[in-house]
Amino acid sequence: MDCPHCDAEPLVALEYERVEVDYCAKCRGVWLDAGELELLYGDANAARDFLESRNPVPRGEKPRRCPECGARMVKEATEGDRPVTVDRCTKGHGLWLDRGELATVLQQAEHESHGSEVGRFLREVFPGTNKTGASE
Ligand SMILES: [Zn+2]
Ligand SMILES: [Zn+2]
Repeated sequence: MDCPHCDAEPLVALEYERVEVDYCAKCRGVWLDAGELELLYGDANAARDFLESRNPVPRGEKPRRCPECGARMVKEATEGDRPVTVDRCTKGHGLWLDRGELATVLQQAEHESHGSEVGRFLREVFPGTNKTGASE
C-alpha cells in the first residue's frame, strides 16, 4: 500500500499484539484498517460512538485516495474538545489519520474508555505534535 498523502511512498507495517498499523515514515500519517480503531479504543461501543459522531468538514484539505482500493475517501471531523479530520474509505477499508491526529484520537479514547494497551503503545510511537507544550 502506498501513502495516500505522499506520492508512491510505501506504508510501513507496525505490529503490536493483534493490531497491525500501517504508517508513512515520511509524513507520519497512519492508516487504520477497518476494525483496528475498536482495538485501539479497547471498547467497541466507544469506537462506534466515535465513528458515528462526525461533523461535516470545512473544505480546503486535499482529497485523498484509499490505499487499498484507490477510491476517493470522504473527510469527516470528529467531535470532542479537539476535533480531528479523518479520511474514511466509503467501502469500509479503513481510516487515514494525518500526523499527530492519531495521538489526539488515542487521548480521547483514554479519556472515554481508558483506552487499550496498544493505544498506549501507539501514543509513544506517534506522539502528538503538541505545539502548545501542554502538560500531558
Ligand atoms: Zn506520507
Ligand atoms: Zn477502500
